[in-house]
Amino acid sequence: MLNLVLFGPPGAGKGTQAEFLIKSYGLEHLSTGDLLRSEIAAGTKLGLEAKSFMEKGELVPDEVVIGMIKTKLENNKAVKGFIFDGFPRTVDQAKALDNLLNENGTPISGMLSLEVDKQELINRLMKRGEISGRPDDQDQSVIENRINVYNQKTLPLIEYYKPQGKHFGINGMGSIEDIAGRLEAVITKL
Ligand code: ADP
Repeated sequence: MLNLVLFGPPGAGKGTQAEFLIKSYGLEHLSTGDLLRSEIAAGTKLGLEAKSFMEKGELVPDEVVIGMIKTKLENNKAVKGFIFDGFPRTVDQAKALDNLLNENGTPISGMLSLEVDKQELINRLMKRGEISGRPDDQDQSVIENRINVYNQKTLPLIEYYKPQGKHFGINGMGSIEDIAGRLEAVITKL
C-alpha cells in the first residue's frame, strides 16, 4: 500500500495536486476539509460543531477529525492506498493516524511537504475565495489566522516525520504540472 500525507500550509495546492495523484496512482483521497464541509452542508451535529472553528480559521478538535478518519479507514479496506490531505494537522493527530494504520500493518510511506511563500499563499486563497465562495477564503484576517495556526500547530509535524526518514520537502511554486512532476519524482522512490 502507498499511504501519502500531502502536507503544506493553506493554499499550498494540496487539493489540486491530490487530484493528479488519484489519477496517476489510483489512491483514495481523504481530505478532512472536504469531509467537514460535507458534514456542514448535510447539517449534521458534527458539521454544526465544526463550523464555528472553521469560520474563525481555528482547528476543529482532534477527536472530531480523528473519528472521521477512523470511520473512513474502516470503510475503505480494499484500496491501494490513501492520500491524506489536510490531515494530520497536529502531532496528536499524526500519532492517532499511526496507531490506526499500524492496526492494518500499512504505515505512512511518506510526507510530501509543499513549500510556498506566504504572500503567494494569501494571493491564491483570496483568488480561490472569489471562485469557490468558501467563507474562510474571503476574509484576510481568517486567512492570516489559518497561516498562523499552521505555523504553530501543524509545522511541528515535520519534526515528527523527519526522524522516521519520511519527510520530503517539495517546491510548491510554479505551474501545476511542474509541481506534479516534482511530487512524482519523489513518489517513484518510495
Ligand atoms: P486549507 O488547507 O485551505 O486551510 P482545508 O479544507 O484543509 O483548507 O481546511 C479548512 C478548515 O477545516 C481548517 O481551517 C480547519 O478549521 C478545518 N480542518 C480541516 N482539516 C482539519 C484537521 N485535520 N484538524 C483540524 N481542523 C481541520
